[in-house]
Formats: sequence, C-alpha cells, structure tokens
Amino acid sequence: VPIELAVSPLPIGERMRYTLIIHDLTERHKVNRMKDEFISTVNHELRTPLTSIKGALGLVVGGVLDAHPDRKVGAITLAYDNCQRLETLINDLLDIGKIQYADVELRLQSLPANALAEKALAMNQGYADKYAVRCRLVPCAGEALVLGDENRLLQVFSNLLSNACKYSPAGAEVVVSLLSGSEELRISVADSGPGIPLEFQAQVFERFTQADSSDTRRLGGTGLGLAITRAIVERHGGKIGFDSIPGQGTVFYVDLPLVAVSAEPSGESSGGF
Ligand code: ADP
Repeated sequence: VPIELAVSPLPIGERMRYTLIIHDLTERHKVNRMKDEFISTVNHELRTPLTSIKGALGLVVGGVLDAHPDRKVGAITLAYDNCQRLETLINDLLDIGKIQYADVELRLQSLPANALAEKALAMNQGYADKYAVRCRLVPCAGEALVLGDENRLLQVFSNLLSNACKYSPAGAEVVVSLLSGSEELRISVADSGPGIPLEFQAQVFERFTQADSSDTRRLGGTGLGLAITRAIVERHGGKIGFDSIPGQGTVFYVDLPLVAVSAEPSGESSGGF
C-alpha cells in the first residue's frame, strides 16, 4: 500500500511529543493514474487525425502532387475528412466534460415519452436508410411523461439508435420499446446485430473504447457516444444498461424517472419492469 508519513512535533512542557501520521495514498494514486491515462488517450486520439492532415497537406504544399491532380484532390479530401473527425472529437470531449461536471444546465420539462420517441425515430431516419435498417416504435400505453431536457434525451435516443443501425445487418429491424412502470419509464433499443463481445462488455461505457478498433475507420465512431449517453442519463437521475448475446443481438435500456403516469389502467403499463 503506498503511504505518506508525516511527523508532527508538539512541545508539552519540557518534553516534545511526536505524532506519526500515516496517509493511505492508494486512492490518490488511482486518480492520478486515471488522469494520466485520460490525457495520454486524448493526446493520441487528437494527434492521429492531426498527423494525417499534416501529412496530406504537406504533400500538397510541397508540390509533390502537382503533376497528379487526382491524387492532389485525394490528399485534400483526406485532410478535410480528418478535420471533421477532429471537430467531432473535440465537440464530444467538451460535451462529456460539461455534462459530467454538471457545467451545463439541463432545461427540464415534462415530455410526453411516446412523442419524444417518435421524434427521435424521425431524426434517425437518415441513419436507418444509410444502413438499410427499419426502425419500429412500440409505444407505451397511456400518456407517460418524463422530466427531462428534450435535446439531451433526443441525444440519448440518437446515440443508441445510431449504434443499433450501424451494427445491424442490412434489412434487419431495430425495435424501440417504451414501457412505463409505476415510477420509471424504460426505453429499450433492440437490434439483431453481432452483439458485444463478452470480454469487451465491462468497458462499453468507457471513453474512447470500441470492441473493434477498425470501427473508427469503417463506421466513423469515436468511442465516446456511450460515455456521453451514460453521463446524460445519470444527470437525469436515470440508469443505463444492456443485455447482449454475441451472435444474436443487443438491447440497450434506459430507465428514467416519470413525472406522472396516466390514471388509465392498462395491462401493459401497470406492471412495472
Ligand atoms: P462508437 O459508436 O463511436 O464507436 P460508442 O461509445 O457509441 O462509440 O460505442 C462503443 C463501442 O460499443 C462500439 O465501438 C461497439 O464496439 C460497441 N457497441 C455499441 N453499441 C453496440 C451495438 N448495438 N451492437 C454491438 N456493439 C455495440
């Protein structure tokens, strides 16, 4: 165990009394290590696109590609794509910091859950089309209201839906279901994609983690989406989790506190989860 010793002398009459203070530094060391890891990951993540931009533009500026207009356009396009990636990374990093450290005020209001989910599905349509996936909503019975920041909750839906579409085979269906319990709303986003490998499951919500590092290039992710999603859900007093069976699919679920549930009794909405 790492420790720090301090001796504190205290004169008592003619004599000196010494007190030995022992501090357990385990926690402080852990926090410092996490900070170091975070800084080195951010450094690496930001440097990778920057190196690529510098390399590509270096060829253009140096005139190396002057005789090859196609390759010149290719180099500029590569630089541009990497600028966009840098922009996304910086925005996501700032966003996650702001949410986690409660720097952004949530604009809380009562939101009808079904209408919110419909809006999220409509906003995600472009993604669904891109991956040829059909998204279906199973609304909850009654007029469940959640207390939340509309844009932030749409961001939660959008991160889960876009992942579900990205990892689904073409032609598959992604099902978003809402279920209102007595105090909480459960939102589930289910896909029939490849599932999350067992050895990766413990890291899913960590920053910059991807089960397959080639996904960054292939699918354009940053590995920050679920970390942001969890931070937003937790700021709303909610919980997020998932069930995933490799080879069969994944269900992400989010539980959010309800403002009020319709008095109308209904089989589907009254049983809780
Ligand atoms: P990104 O999507 O930008 O890579 P996320 O934080 O959203 O980052 O997701 C982290 C990783 O979790 C993904 O790279 C992927 O490996 C895994 N993952 C997330 N959602 C799913 C899903 N629905 N099916 C399979 N794997 C998933």
